[in-house]
Parts: sequence; structure tokens; C-alpha cells
Amino acid sequence: MDHFLYRDGTLYAEDVPISEIAAAVGTPFYVYSTATLQRHFRLFDEALEGTEHLVCYAMKANSNQAVLKTLAQAGAGMDVVSGGEYRRARAAGVPGEKIVFSGVGKTREEIALALTGGIRQFNVESEPEMAVLSAVADEMGVTAPITIRVNPDVDAKTHAKIATGKSENKFGIPIARAREVYAMAAALPGLEIVGIDVHIGSQLTDLAPYEQAYLKVAELTETLRADGHSIRRLDLGGGLGIPYERSNTDPPLPSDYGAMVKRVLGHLGCEIEIEPGRLIAGNAGLMVSEVIYVKSGEGRDFLIIDGAMNDLIRPAMYEAHHDIVPVIEPAVGVEPQPIDIVGPVCESGDTFAKQRPMPPLNAGDLVAFRSAGAYGAVMASEYNSRPMIPEVLVHGDQFAVIRARPTFDEMINRDTIPEWL
Ligand SMILES: *Cc1c(COP(=O)(O)O)cnc(C)c1O
Repeated sequence: MDHFLYRDGTLYAEDVPISEIAAAVGTPFYVYSTATLQRHFRLFDEALEGTEHLVCYAMKANSNQAVLKTLAQAGAGMDVVSGGEYRRARAAGVPGEKIVFSGVGKTREEIALALTGGIRQFNVESEPEMAVLSAVADEMGVTAPITIRVNPDVDAKTHAKIATGKSENKFGIPIARAREVYAMAAALPGLEIVGIDVHIGSQLTDLAPYEQAYLKVAELTETLRADGHSIRRLDLGGGLGIPYERSNTDPPLPSDYGAMVKRVLGHLGCEIEIEPGRLIAGNAGLMVSEVIYVKSGEGRDFLIIDGAMNDLIRPAMYEAHHDIVPVIEPAVGVEPQPIDIVGPVCESGDTFAKQRPMPPLNAGDLVAFRSAGAYGAVMASEYNSRPMIPEVLVHGDQFAVIRARPTFDEMINRDTIPEWL
């Protein structure tokens, strides 16, 4: 459920008409709903009630400072995958002890940054990383709390670009080698083993792969404890999918997920961490765009809008579907007609939807892409010298620009001319 609904025939974000935001900031833009962000965080938090836990929002999904602050104030920790994200989390007021550091390529500088600023744990992804982490911590005279990310070799049955739990993926160490690698960690200076980490992919629409993976983690917990390691925390990753198509069957709910986690892992007495990104931010955001032209082609028509692949790359990159709805609710009985919805970028890949049934639209009309709050603004670029589009946060009947559109001068002046020119 989200807070983007039609009222009196026009689309609202909470209590603010989308058309009012469009008039104030211009199109295209992203708009996020505070109530939806809070609600999705709470769903996860409540799903794990009765078990010691921390929901660490995977901030790569949407790392705007205002979004982070909204979630941090609700009680969220953060899952970061770079020094930049670590800095953003700290800047939003998240204490180090609520930040977990994931990612396969942590540099010495990033490790030192987190050790200096405070960190809940590093999720270590390889032996070379473990060696560097040990060396940096030892040089600094501190101890780095770690989990080791194990790759359980399960098929998450999701898009190949966002599957991470098969043995051919670059993530984690093979679960079969876990005992050996935990023994190495225990022997290294500067490290303190606190648990196990697993993350099998993104946009999972079935709980079965999770359960397979968590059963393996449960078994590994017992084995590692028997080996003498202190396994007191289980980081179970993120990845719960969202319904990008309203017409499709719904993915599992956080409450179903939480019940499964407790059933499979509850007996171990571990603190549970989860790292949802998409399910918290995805349906909490829209991208709003204006129709520039309606073009009649041979055998098909095109809706050319002012949003493009540089603003929202998911359709071009993952063949992703976004529901696209008119901001003015179509009158009852209006027959939708198939149309291709495309942006202005000079690439055929700049196509959001092919032969999508839409009500008749004209130049100047607004459309909203649903489920655009995660992996939207954070993946945007200025390709074709199109300015990064603004982000707006709604809270009840208020709204605020939380990242402004740059001016063209700002964009151009980021380049510098060498003295020989
Ligand atoms: C991307 C990622 C997540 C979040 O995945 P979602 O599908 O957005 O929930 C969590 N943990 C790690 C390690 C990730 O890389």
C-alpha cells in the first residue's frame, strides 16, 4: 500500500496534488511519500517483533539525506556499500553502531573511515578483504567487528543482473569453505567475529529461495559454534520484491517473511539484521513526467515524454516494468489504446513501455511512473546533458524540494578547461 491515490479525479501524494508540485518545481521530478516510507519500515520492524533485531535500510536504493533522516528517525539502521554512503548515513544522523558495511570492494580508505567513525559490523566478502581489514584495524589499534558473507548457492529466480546468491556470482565466499575462512578470521589480529551474513539477490517474489538459504545458515551457525566461534548475529540481507505490476500476483509480505525467519532461525537465539532497500523505498516514490508530443508512426503511436532513461534507467537496464498512470484520472468508460512510451534521449533503449494500454493523452498532460522510489534517482545521470531531476518529499499536506535541479551553468561549470586550450 502506498499514499499515491486519486482524489476528485486527480492524483495526490498524501494530501498534496501532484499537479501542484509539478507547477512548483517543473517536470520531470521524483516525489516521495513520508507516510509510505515510514509504513514500509514499520512493516519490517513489526515482522521481527519478539526477536532482537535491527532493520538496516539498504540505502543504495535511495540515499537522499531527507529519506535517510525520515527512516533513521523511525529507528532504522543503515546498510552501506561505499565510503560515500557511510558519510551520507552519518550526515543524516545515523550513529556508527547502527551502520553495517557491505560490498565486495571496500578500500583501505573506506575501511579506515568506518573504523574511525564507528561501525556496527563489516560484512566481509573475501579473504583478501579480510586480510586488509585485519591489517588496517591492527595498525589503528582497534578491533573490527565482522560477519562473513557466505554464498549459499541458491537460485533466487530473479533478473540475472540482480541475482547474487549463485556460486557463479561475485559475492561472498562459498558456503562450503565457510569453516576454513572463519578459522582464518579467528586467527587474524584486529578482527572480532560476530555473526554470519547472507544476501541472495533483489526483487525476490518467492520466499522459497530465502528459506533454502536460511536453512543452510542455520546449519552453518551450529557448525561454527561447535568450532568455537561466537555467532550471535545473523544478517539476512534484503531483496524482498515489490509488485511493479498491480495486475500481477503480489509478492510475499514482510510479515510472511518475518514469520519464516523466526520459524527457520528463531531457535538459534541470534540477533537478526535485515537489509531491505527496494521494499522500503520503491513504492514510496513516483517519477512524474509531462507529455511533449504524441507522434503517430507506422502501425504504432508514440507518447514522447520529458522523462528519459537517464532519469529512470530500470526499464532500459533490467527490462523492468513500471505502471504508468495519467495524473488526471481517466473518465469512466474511456477505452485505453496501446502506445509506446518513450523519452527524448537519442537511443532506442530510451523506451519505457511498448504498446502499453493508456487512455488518450495530449501534449502538456502529466503521467506518473509508479514504484520509482528505489533505484531511480540514485541511478540517474546527466546523459544528453539533461539536468538531474529534482526530488521532492511530501509529508501530509506539506512538500519540500530535497534535491534541487541544477542550473545549466552549474552543470557546465563542473567541467574545467586545461590551460593549453
Ligand atoms: C542491494 C542490497 C540490498 C538491498 O536489496 P533490495 O532488493 O533493495 O532490498 C541489501 N543488502 C545488500 C548487501 C545489497 O547489496
